[in-house]
Amino acid sequence: MATQGSPFNPRLRSERFSGQIAIALFRIAQGVQVMVRRSGQALGLSPAQTQALLFLAYARPGVHTIGGLAQRLQATMATASEVADALERKGLVVREPRPEDHRIIGLRLTGAGRRRAADLEGMLDDLEAAVAELPPDDQEHLHRILQHIVRRMVEKRLVVVYEMCWGCAFFRPMAHPDDPAAPHHCAFMDAPLPDAHTYTECPDFTPRAEVSA
Ligand code: SF4
Repeated sequence: MATQGSPFNPRLRSERFSGQIAIALFRIAQGVQVMVRRSGQALGLSPAQTQALLFLAYARPGVHTIGGLAQRLQATMATASEVADALERKGLVVREPRPEDHRIIGLRLTGAGRRRAADLEGMLDDLEAAVAELPPDDQEHLHRILQHIVRRMVEKRLVVVYEMCWGCAFFRPMAHPDDPAAPHHCAFMDAPLPDAHTYTECPDFTPRAEVSA
C-alpha cells in the first residue's frame, strides 16, 4: 500500500480521516498505558506485574505457565520468569508443578494475589465511562470497527487476543450433557470443558465469523 505520509504530521493527517483516527487510537493507547501504570503503582506493582495478575485472574487455567505469561506479555520467557519471581517474592503468586505433568510448572494466584487482582478491576473505568456516553447504536458500530482493527493487528502479530469460549468457532456448548462437571467441549483442544472455564479468556479463541467465511 502506498504511504500517504505520516499521520504524526498534522498537515498530512488533516487531509484524511484514517490518519486522524490512527492518531486518536495512538492517544487512547497512551492513556491506557497511564491507567495501567497508575493503578499498578498505587498497589506497588509494575505494569508487567499488573498485567500478569489480571492474566492469572482471568485467563484459561491451562495457560497459567511461564510460557503463557510470556505470550500474554509479548515478552521473552526470561522476562516472564522475572515477573513471576517478583510476584512470588510479594506473596501474590506461587509456582507449582502441574498434576497432569510434573515437568510443567504452573503459576497460581495466592489469596493475597486474588485480592490484589480484584483491586485492579476498576482500571479501565474512565475509558468505559467515555464509551458509555455514546448512544447504543454508536457503541455497536464502534465495537464492530474496533474488532476489525484488532483483527488486523492480530494478523500482524502486534497483539494476542484472549477471549472467552462463547463466540469461539471451536466451542461446542452442551456437547456432553451427561457430564455435569464438564458439559461443554473445545474442538481445538478436543477436550471437555467445565462451565466455569468457558468464561475464562483463551489465547486460542477464534471468532466464529472468521472460520465460516
Ligand atoms: S479454543 Fe475456543 S472453545 Fe477452545 S478453550 Fe479456547 S476459546 Fe474455548
